[in-house]
Amino acid sequence: MTNPIHIIGGGLAGSEAAWQVASAGVPVILHEMRPVASTDAHKTDGLAELVCSNSFRSDDAEYNAVGLLHEEMRRAGSLILAAADRQKVPAGSALAVDRDAFSADVTQVLTSHPLIEIRRVEVTGLPPAEWGTTILATGPLTAPALAEAIKAETGEESLAFFDAIAPIVYRDSIDFSICWMQSRYDKEGPGGGVADYINCPLNKDEYHDFIQALIDGEKTDFKEWEKNTPYFEGCLPIEVMAARGVETLRYGPMKGVGLDDPRTGRWPYAVVQLRQDNALGTLYNMVGFQTKLKHAAQVEIFRRIPGLEKAEFARLGGLHRNMFLNSPRLLDATLRLKSRPAIRFAGQVTGCEGYVESAAVGLMAGRFALADRAGMEPIPPPVTTAMGALLAHITGGAAAASFQPMNVNFGLFPVPEGKLPKGRDRKRVYTARALADLNGWLGADRAAAE
Ligand SMILES: Cc1cc2nc3c(=O)[nH]c(=O)nc-3n(C[C@H](O)[C@H](O)[C@H](O)COP(=O)(O)OP(=O)(O)OC[C@H]3O[C@@H](n4cnc5c(N)ncnc54)[C@H](O)[C@@H]3O)c2cc1C
Repeated sequence: MTNPIHIIGGGLAGSEAAWQVASAGVPVILHEMRPVASTDAHKTDGLAELVCSNSFRSDDAEYNAVGLLHEEMRRAGSLILAAADRQKVPAGSALAVDRDAFSADVTQVLTSHPLIEIRRVEVTGLPPAEWGTTILATGPLTAPALAEAIKAETGEESLAFFDAIAPIVYRDSIDFSICWMQSRYDKEGPGGGVADYINCPLNKDEYHDFIQALIDGEKTDFKEWEKNTPYFEGCLPIEVMAARGVETLRYGPMKGVGLDDPRTGRWPYAVVQLRQDNALGTLYNMVGFQTKLKHAAQVEIFRRIPGLEKAEFARLGGLHRNMFLNSPRLLDATLRLKSRPAIRFAGQVTGCEGYVESAAVGLMAGRFALADRAGMEPIPPPVTTAMGALLAHITGGAAAASFQPMNVNFGLFPVPEGKLPKGRDRKRVYTARALADLNGWLGADRAAAE
């Protein structure tokens, strides 16, 4: 019999990867530690347990990037999407599921598959060489012993254990009649640029109103176990800094020194800076703006910043315990650990963010592992597809120095050539191109597997 492909972690990514591999006729050994050991968020021993919300977000494949990702996954024969479709509950244009029925469905499909063996065991170290190609999909709450082993292999700096996310803004929603590009004191950056930041100026009254809004804004509660996780002093939530004193932010991330507002020729009283977040230059993150404000409060408060009145957010800020790799630095284009290519990572641990994204990366990892096994070079999906755009971002498109988990969004896609329609219709150009290109990839991928 063919040697099995080992997969560690039976969450969203590991379950999808197992299905993709077994569906191609290759045996799988899936190692899942629950119920022998558990995480702080999981409550059951079911595979693909949803730890928080029961939503897979928008199911609109024409106008929404995550809806497009759903459709691409369906076309690629995804188990996670098929089970979600079978177990869905009414949720308007979103795809939401009965979480218990969903997990039971995935568990039943995988346990009854003749080519899948499920071992309920905690893996405490990196996979032994004799396992060959292995997919590691142990998620943001990877058990401590394995997390230590990964840290030893990749280096201390490569694993972030506390996820402090700052919001990301679409560049084309920023008002450049107010904002300008400049690096502080025109200092040259590593790429040679002296105008790497977008600067949004605030006068004294605007700054004081903004600080008060941060202090008053509604915050997300900490879960009991999260209370014990300390903040890193270097990435305090913005509202915690605001509460320490009215001047704290003006001497921290909001300091205006060294920046010349072209409208006044002077340094602004305070400033909000945004830094490029992807190679395409379509996304900018708000520097130092990690936050635990509720999402609605973030939109309301951050749109008070001059120049961001019409800001559209590719991702809002958040804070929870998380473990993810610095994938742009550590992984190759098909998710293999550069220092040990037999190990391929999948799911949230690669720095994608969200149930659907994690499952999508699991889907790709499963297919790539099959190509490896067949002695072929795995082919990533085109960057014009939602899967390919997400993969390209986490494995190289994102800036390694400021890498943070990322949801799929249209800012990750290359801008289509030619004149584009405005508004909603623009998105249809992206989604039609994605599905056409995906079909080509699925055909090539299938041919390679045969
Ligand atoms: C608290 C929290 C809330 C979240 N809420 C949401 C949300 O509402 N919506 C959303 O879209 N995303 C959410 N996410 C983000 C993310 O989408 C989920 O964490 C998602 O489950 C990630 O999928 P995964 O397959 O990478 O990891 P998981 O689904 O966590 O699967 C990893 C699996 O590996 C197992 N495992 C871990 N270590 C070992 C080991 N050493 N040996 C064997 N097995 C092991 C775990 O038991 C688990 O089953 C949340 C994350 C966290 C931490």
